[in-house]
Amino acid sequence: MGRIQLLDTATANKIAAGEVVERPASVVKELIENSLDAGARSIFLRVENGGKDKITVGDDGEGMAEDDLLLAFQRHATSKIATAEDLHYITTLGFRGEALASIAAVSKIFICSRLKESTGGLALRLEAGNVVERQVVGCSRGTTIEVTDLFFNAPARKKFLFNTSRETAAISEIVHRLALAHNKVKFTYYSGERMLLSTPGNNSMLEVITAIYGYELAEKLLPLTFEDGQYLIRGFISPPTVHRATANGITVLINGRFIKDSSLIDTIRAAYGSRIPRGRFPLAVVELRLDPGTIDVNVHPQKLSVKFDQPELIHSFLNKALNKALSVSGTAANYVPSIKFTERKNDRQELINSNDSQDQMSFNLHTGVGKPKPVSQPKVIHEAEELVHEDKSQPHLPAMRVVGQFQAGYIVAEAGDELYIIDQHGAHERVLFERYCQENKISYSQLTVPQTITFTADEAEYLVNCIFLLQKFGFILEHFGGNTFLLRGVPEFATTADGVTILRDVIQLVAAGKQVREQELKKEMLLQLSCKGAVKAGQYLEAAEMENLLRQLANSDYPYSCPHGRPIIIKLTLRELQKLFLRQE
Ligand code: ADP
Ligand code: MG
Repeated sequence: MGRIQLLDTATANKIAAGEVVERPASVVKELIENSLDAGARSIFLRVENGGKDKITVGDDGEGMAEDDLLLAFQRHATSKIATAEDLHYITTLGFRGEALASIAAVSKIFICSRLKESTGGLALRLEAGNVVERQVVGCSRGTTIEVTDLFFNAPARKKFLFNTSRETAAISEIVHRLALAHNKVKFTYYSGERMLLSTPGNNSMLEVITAIYGYELAEKLLPLTFEDGQYLIRGFISPPTVHRATANGITVLINGRFIKDSSLIDTIRAAYGSRIPRGRFPLAVVELRLDPGTIDVNVHPQKLSVKFDQPELIHSFLNKALNKALSVSGTAANYVPSIKFTERKNDRQELINSNDSQDQMSFNLHTGVGKPKPVSQPKVIHEAEELVHEDKSQPHLPAMRVVGQFQAGYIVAEAGDELYIIDQHGAHERVLFERYCQENKISYSQLTVPQTITFTADEAEYLVNCIFLLQKFGFILEHFGGNTFLLRGVPEFATTADGVTILRDVIQLVAAGKQVREQELKKEMLLQLSCKGAVKAGQYLEAAEMENLLRQLANSDYPYSCPHGRPIIIKLTLRELQKLFLRQE
């Protein structure tokens, strides 16, 4: 007796209609999800020409009975839900019952399937959704499906497919995410004769990450585990020294389903705050488990997004979990990038970062990602607070002995068998930033002659509302009328000119929002104050000043990057040096 039944029309209509098959990658996603829903332990995928010519998926799942196999290709045929009520509690990946029907409608299909308990299987051939051949066959347990000539009868859609490498890349992205979400299942993925991925299927997320991103990166990752009554999170995230130009390395899994939710990605990015440069993204695999009754998965035809009953709770939970994983405990090994010299073919010595890998995952001393592109306004507004909560017990850097200053911009120091180079401006900026974050009020010095400053109407409106707030940052301001203000005091360390520049810069940045948001104003203000207050590059420092700065830096909460996310400190190990002098292999 078959288990598939047609949904009643009302239920069927409740399921939002939509395009399931957009490109080869969406076919791959649906087929693999079916294999996973069928309880497969091992899934094989081969794509030819970016999936445009052929996609083969084989599994060792439960298989289908004859009548089910025929029914499976009808729209709204599913074994996964029976009534609209079931939509509220979905635990399978599929439930809409439209993938096979949609795929079959625009391709040629060969499928054979055998139930565990039966001796033979059934094979079908379909063209544009019609069965053209049917045969009882001997086949191995499970289901194998081949989709050829995608969009052969839909030339308009075929035209919009990209070249092979781009379609293959889209498929790989899907396969990676599915493999990450299902690390109990063994995935083998070929493009033509080339094996692109093989995972062990031994329930280790880290091993899947290793298979996808390589050992060098995987061993640097920080584990993520966190739990409260309602939610459970686990996964791996990159340390702040490893970051990428896009958010593609962020995988969010919710109850085993990967989703594309930009607000969750924003939250993950925001947790890194200023620890990585603006405009760069961490690598993260974040798996959230929560009561399926509290999310709606039926909000996207490709099931790529979900709706939460209480989104704020999820975001704050995620934020807490990431902060815990990122809070630095003792060891600096993961956080201080080390300099490595590799020999290139042209025999030139090049300076590269040890964290760097083929796809530009980390900052690279050579390409100077250290100069991040200015991005509009930072979204992180809680950062000033976060920093204060970190563990203060132990210095995060070793005690260093100052060797000297290089080019009046860099402090050269040593500790044990490591040589450190520290950007003096960034280091001081970090120290001041953290100090200001903790201080409630910044002292000001009174100007002997008050300065009049005129702003734009928008800025003036904003300023009127934050005159009191600005006093906390050492700006004593009085509304003179219209768009003009009298500046009577500036932060203690600043000259009048510096004070005016800081005030103008900050107000220009934040006034666009009109409404005064204290956290945002505070963050921009503290960034500017620490930047202007810090020693400049080109400034000669006495040994005692450098020692003092390094001591303060070692005791700061996050001594590895400046508040704008540029690295502060790099090291060269004795071993690397010995290698250069050919004293060691
Ligand atoms: P859905 O997955 O939303 O139920 P599909 O169109 O993807 O809809 O599949 C229809 C039905 O076919 C599924 O409900 C399932 O019973 C069956 N099916 C599809 N693929 C497989 C497979 N690889 N192994 C076993 N059963 C399958
Ligand atoms: Mg399905």
